[in-house]
Amino acid sequence: MVVAQLPAVARIHIETRRGHWPSDAGTRGLRHWLAQSPCCTAADLAVHADGRRGCRTCGEWTSASHSDGVLALARSAHPVGIDVQLPRHRAAALRVLAAASGVSSPGIGHWALAEATLKALGQAGHRPSRLPLPSELAGELRWEAESGEALAGCVVDLADRLDVPVGTMLAVAWVVERRSVAEAW
Ligand SMILES: [Zn+2]
Repeated sequence: MVVAQLPAVARIHIETRRGHWPSDAGTRGLRHWLAQSPCCTAADLAVHADGRRGCRTCGEWTSASHSDGVLALARSAHPVGIDVQLPRHRAAALRVLAAASGVSSPGIGHWALAEATLKALGQAGHRPSRLPLPSELAGELRWEAESGEALAGCVVDLADRLDVPVGTMLAVAWVVERRSVAEAW
């Protein structure tokens, strides 16, 4: 299904199932989506050196995330990151995030936005000491990365729209300025 309320800058696809998605669900889901709805005549999903994925031919960017039975995929002309987090007790991790982000009491939504931001910036898996995030998560968000990139994004509770646990947070972040295909690849 597509969550229509999310900004048009990114196309979002969300799929739920009983039980857990396998570890390769993101890549498989992106390939399936691209095959059904190609970005260009020679759609070719490739992995960039920084871990970001996208079409080698036209430069469309993609991202994927899954947690338990929720799979979330994103496609955009902008470098994009998507992340889904089920409501879990993450007190220690959130204390670390508070220090890095400057947000006084971050929740799971901030955690999802942090992961989505790192994916959009090509820093997935990094744990930077400084990761600025907006403190309020309502509406379309605008902020700036530590490295100066202009970022935009949004955070929604998927339970408002899908049969998932209350507090299942979906975050999408993208780099506002698009780099050229030649520069990106
Ligand atoms: Zn393409």
